[in-house]
Amino acid sequence: MTATTISHWIGGTRSPGGSDRHGDVFNPATGSVSATVPFATSSEVDAAVAVAAEAFLSWRDVSLSRRTEIMFRFRELLSAHKDDLAAAVTAEHGKVLSDAAGEVQRGIENVEFACGAPHLLKGSMSHQVATRVDVHSLLQPLGVVAGISPFNFPAMVPLWMFPNALVCGNTFVLKPSEKDPSASVLMAELLTEAGLPDGVFNVVHGDKEAVDALLVNPTVQAVSFVGSTPIARYIYETGTSHGKRVQALGGAKNHMVVLPDADLGMAADAAVSAAYGSAGERCMAISVVLAVGDVADPLVAAIAERARAVRIGPGTDADSEMGPLVTREHRDKVASYLPAASEAGARLVLDGREQSFDGDGFFLGVSIIDDVTTDMDCYRDEIFGPVLAVVRVPDFDAAMAVLEDNPYGNGTAIFTRDGGAARRFVDEVPVGMVGVNVPVPVPVAAYSFGGWGDSLFGDSHMYGPEGLAFYTRSKVVTSRWPDPSTSTVDLGFPQSR
Ligand code: NAD
Repeated sequence: MTATTISHWIGGTRSPGGSDRHGDVFNPATGSVSATVPFATSSEVDAAVAVAAEAFLSWRDVSLSRRTEIMFRFRELLSAHKDDLAAAVTAEHGKVLSDAAGEVQRGIENVEFACGAPHLLKGSMSHQVATRVDVHSLLQPLGVVAGISPFNFPAMVPLWMFPNALVCGNTFVLKPSEKDPSASVLMAELLTEAGLPDGVFNVVHGDKEAVDALLVNPTVQAVSFVGSTPIARYIYETGTSHGKRVQALGGAKNHMVVLPDADLGMAADAAVSAAYGSAGERCMAISVVLAVGDVADPLVAAIAERARAVRIGPGTDADSEMGPLVTREHRDKVASYLPAASEAGARLVLDGREQSFDGDGFFLGVSIIDDVTTDMDCYRDEIFGPVLAVVRVPDFDAAMAVLEDNPYGNGTAIFTRDGGAARRFVDEVPVGMVGVNVPVPVPVAAYSFGGWGDSLFGDSHMYGPEGLAFYTRSKVVTSRWPDPSTSTVDLGFPQSR
């Protein structure tokens, strides 16, 4: 198969770019290179930002109803092209088609939220705060804003960002992951088809050079980032030191606490889907089960029974429940945690390396590591693959102590029938998104998404109300008007009211 070249999208059209650096895009199911993607130079990024800055001058004045109308049309086009987008995601990321379609659907929910902008962007008004003095507030766009997204949700994570940014009146430059860049260009085309003026939404591909150019460009007012913790920290520190508003969502190590009274079948089903869905390459994946008390033995047995039945194969195969990992290097890195865990004293209940696959795809079987302790690398590191660690703890307090010591705070879940225990967990756990008998508690679009601790740098969570707040700045206007009856021009007002 001949590799195609993926284009940037600047000023409403595809642009091949002039850089002599590029990256390979793989089909993870076959291991072959399917496309090459240009890596923008810093001057190419600056040129794209200049296009967005020019477009901002008119986009900010486009009426709210017109902006919303475009977003409604974009929503229809996304729905109509859901299968195309899902196919593009599966081809470059590897996740199974149903999962890819689910990702697009979760993204569409954010577009639907953005369609509510006429209501959501209302300011407030206080009449007569002093004699003939009124105060009102309005929300205005920031200007050019940038988004930098990770490989694991190439459609959904950009949709967390740009629909809200655009309806607020900003223009946008997206730097998607270089591993699976096609979905962003497809969405750019759909935005244009929906009526978005040229230059309002732009896509530049690239690596660190492109990201750094966005972080230092003085025209860029705000940066939304989603990715790993070390890069999130870097983006936050560099962006804010250049005077920008930054929200940088980082990595995760999500724990699922299973109490002895939990519905065992429900908990085991949840652990398997949350640990191995999308090959564990989800920031909300469950990677640690905290098995409390005597639930551990039957729970591990129930998870293992289900895990052995997970069907692994190409994402395009309707029978596959789990696809390959994103790259060969990542697959090998994930696999390397298994012998290391064994050497550290943990027990491999299921070793994904033992499953063999035809061809050169980046496949790895699912793994369960039991008797993990919190000093082991397989506990401390974000593995980001189909590996589930089980930490056995004697009681609820011990489970909470483990959670409190973990530096990440993205998502967590408790499985129990006890309302009091669940309520205490919700109150006390230092984590941004919490599930009660729900393993992957991703907030719906009307709430905002974000973790605590090393899973978030910045003050603002993403999408929902905090997303709109991030992409706007408020202005408060205090007005006093003279009494019209005192006007030197007789306007027909009585002398006093
Ligand atoms: P990554 O941090 O490697 O890359 C994210 C983005 O940063 C990409 O666009 C990439 O090109 C860019 N980048 C990479 N290295 C850079 C550098 N040195 N300087 C500047 N930019 C750089 O993340 P990834 O591997 O693409 O995605 C997986 C990670 O993202 C996991 O850690 C996962 O937990 C995290 N993630 C978090 C959330 C969340 O909401 N908290 C959601 C999805 C993914």
